[in-house]
Amino acid sequence: MMGKERRSALLMLALAAAVCLWASRDFLAMRERDRVFPAPGFRVEMLSSYLPDLKGTGMDTEVYVQEGPEKGGTVFVLGGTHPNEPAGYLAAVLLVENAKVRRGRLMVVPFGNASGFTHNQPQEASPNRLTFQLDDGSMRTFRYGSRDVSPLVMWPVPDVYVHKPSGQSLSGNESRNLNRSYPGDPDGSPAERLGFAIMELLRREEVSVAFDLHEASPEYPVVDAIVAHEKGMEVAAAAAMDLKLEGIEMRLEPSPKNLRGLSHREWGDGTGAVPFLIETANPSQGRLRGRTDERLVKTGLDKAYLKASSLGRLFVPYDQGGKPLDERVGRQLATLSALVSAFSMFDQDRGVEIRGIPSYQDVMSRGIGHFLRSGR
Ligand SMILES: [Zn+2]
Repeated sequence: MMGKERRSALLMLALAAAVCLWASRDFLAMRERDRVFPAPGFRVEMLSSYLPDLKGTGMDTEVYVQEGPEKGGTVFVLGGTHPNEPAGYLAAVLLVENAKVRRGRLMVVPFGNASGFTHNQPQEASPNRLTFQLDDGSMRTFRYGSRDVSPLVMWPVPDVYVHKPSGQSLSGNESRNLNRSYPGDPDGSPAERLGFAIMELLRREEVSVAFDLHEASPEYPVVDAIVAHEKGMEVAAAAAMDLKLEGIEMRLEPSPKNLRGLSHREWGDGTGAVPFLIETANPSQGRLRGRTDERLVKTGLDKAYLKASSLGRLFVPYDQGGKPLDERVGRQLATLSALVSAFSMFDQDRGVEIRGIPSYQDVMSRGIGHFLRSGR
């Protein structure tokens, strides 16, 4: 006969196991990858073809490739360097789901820091997911992740991160930041290996123009901005003027020469590509924000930011309209399009022509969901 204590101990154990199971279901679901449904003409490769060690590490990620009927250069687009900057990776997703290449080639990595999509930034209380309704009534969801490579693939972090080629030292946590890891190292940390694989892609594929899509807090000075390497300054100036004529203000920032490890610096110095970083304003990652939920991510409307704006503390225009995600994604795509067109004027041999990219006005008026493909 089983004693009473034993019975209640077993019952408690079963209860604890049930709670663990319930909690782990949600936890494990966070590791599932967001799906992308490419437009006709794309083929899928993996980043590990540029560094086989990435295979099976949680760092490997899809590269979508489309070649046009006419010969030209290659455009490379990296989304999701920082998975807590949704306009960056959603613009890359919309490219994969809508682009039709006429001339040259388009290569898109929507989820650059793939492991960063499997967790959140600690103590930021950000939502786990964003949901979009499509025109056919179906829903698509995307993760809202962390800026850093996951601690599950990179742990522990050093107290001080030394960027090897320059000897520059940064806080240890920056060792998990893909955008401090370039030019990378095939035998280095996971982030350095990831950085190296991206540099290898740029070199081997002879990429002509490359984009890294980001967002930042509205109180950060480099926002609604194009950061350009000196190789691309003329192109960026021409594109910024074209955008201004369309009513889209983008400030132009030169990539500082002594700020090492960043895409707009190292891609330009170490490969034949002309790199640009595009930055939109995302109140849901800002320091002044209040409650951080899906609504804030999508509307970008927060009363503390309204107050900050009235005090002249923001670097972008901000009013009751907030900073909607539709506007930020439209801005990313319009800026990328303007830069590709300007580049193709300056460098006709390596020019690229891409059709089907949703326009700024269209994304704002019809919403992101209209441009996502149904998985049905
Ligand atoms: Zn970023």
